[in-house]
Amino acid sequence: MKTAIVIGSGLAGLTAAYRLQQDGWQVTVLEKADRICGRVITLEKQGYVIDACATSISTAYVDYIELLKEVGLSDKLVEASNTFGVVRDGKAHYVNGLTPIRSFIGTKLMSWPEKIRFVLGAMKLQKYSEDAVLADPGCSVKHDHRSIDDVARECFGDALIDTLMDPIMRVVTFGDVRDTTSVELYTGIISASGRYVNVVGGLETLPRELAKHVTVKLSSPATHIENRDGKVAVTYNDAASGAPKTDIVDTCIITSTFPSAAAMCPQLAREAPALAKQTAFAESVVVHLGYTVPTKINPAAIALPRKEFPNNPAIFLDHNKAPDRAPKGHSLFTLYYCPEAVAKVKAMAPEKVIEDARAIIERYFPEVKGHLDMTNIHFAPYGSHLAPPGHFKAVQELYDNHSPADPIQVGGDYLSLPSQETAVGQGNRAARRVIANQRR
Ligand SMILES: Cc1cc2nc3c(=O)[nH]c(=O)nc-3n(C[C@H](O)[C@H](O)[C@H](O)COP(=O)(O)OP(=O)(O)OC[C@H]3O[C@@H](n4cnc5c(N)ncnc54)[C@H](O)[C@@H]3O)c2cc1C
Repeated sequence: MKTAIVIGSGLAGLTAAYRLQQDGWQVTVLEKADRICGRVITLEKQGYVIDACATSISTAYVDYIELLKEVGLSDKLVEASNTFGVVRDGKAHYVNGLTPIRSFIGTKLMSWPEKIRFVLGAMKLQKYSEDAVLADPGCSVKHDHRSIDDVARECFGDALIDTLMDPIMRVVTFGDVRDTTSVELYTGIISASGRYVNVVGGLETLPRELAKHVTVKLSSPATHIENRDGKVAVTYNDAASGAPKTDIVDTCIITSTFPSAAAMCPQLAREAPALAKQTAFAESVVVHLGYTVPTKINPAAIALPRKEFPNNPAIFLDHNKAPDRAPKGHSLFTLYYCPEAVAKVKAMAPEKVIEDARAIIERYFPEVKGHLDMTNIHFAPYGSHLAPPGHFKAVQELYDNHSPADPIQVGGDYLSLPSQETAVGQGNRAARRVIANQRR
């Protein structure tokens, strides 16, 4: 039987491991942390089901939904609200995410000249993004030298940057439009283009199901990986024995961040030096507030402009994602803090953080005031890689220099727009490469 080790038990690693197991391989997943699922975290507290990191999915998540169905979880997929808010000058304007362009035109979010500019800009953007593929941004690497800000100014003019593009894109990428490659705009458009759906039981439901099919060794970080005459030597700190151990296997798929993959596997650092140096990751503080009353309107989320809310990119309304997120008749909100605000928020007393979050949420949903029931603060040390212009050229360098026939392969969301969809997609691709090599 062919043997494989997969590094990391996030969605990319568990998808790759599941695919190899399906193909008859003996697979072990090594996980550094003491829990599985990586950046997908579901917590249960006082009857609320909290997605503490990743929060949303859409029908554009083709690989994710296909896998969910394949492992027998179709009945867990539910429709979410498709109403979204964007704040301008303190006021929230609501649009139907299923018909965004028509819907934006119907709001007072923009003046008439801005609306005309918006429609023409959207058409231009559509043209630019034609060749974008969510799972494979290599297709749009030719756009990688430009920032989102640069492209958006060309398409929409200066007026709509602060009021529309930045609020929407800071939710998608966690980054600043001036410092983010335009490839993430094109892949972001695809990612946001489907119907908003979610998973009953929380977003850990899929990775937990995948993990049932494979052996996962927790608290067992890999430290060194090398190709030895066509086999792979994987050294790790074995939690069971408490000592370092080296296993020789037929293949190894590494799904930790690329700088960490390159640190444990020097071959990767030589093959993709630029990607190994891209170490900027967005951290976040995520505050959850549960209330004993429902909201009067039911949007899925509200995007907040940086000029008015420098610390917070968005409010999510989790009870509008899936019915189990809050007890019946209650509401559950998630407020994200952006990377620039994390140090300040971490220095604040927890009650001050809650006070700050309440003020923002209760400003837009005054009906919940006085009914606070549950609070939770979660620190996410790395949300996603920040992808400056040039990020996907660095990814391309990896593809150019690393043989698809190598017994060491990589997968992970950094190869595309960071999301659960691309984690699953890259896990699939890494497993497919390995399986094809073995059959050669
Ligand atoms: C705050 C936040 C909000 C988000 N919102 C959304 C959202 O709404 N929608 C969406 O689709 N996505 C969202 N994401 C992104 C999404 O969670 C990630 O893109 C996806 O989960 C990444 O999966 P992955 O398997 O590539 O990486 P990870 O989940 O990070 O998995 C990598 C795993 O490798 C392990 N590891 C690292 N080094 C080693 C080592 N040396 N040995 C063994 N194991 C190791 C890590 O511990 C980790 O478990 C969000 C993320 C965060 C943090």
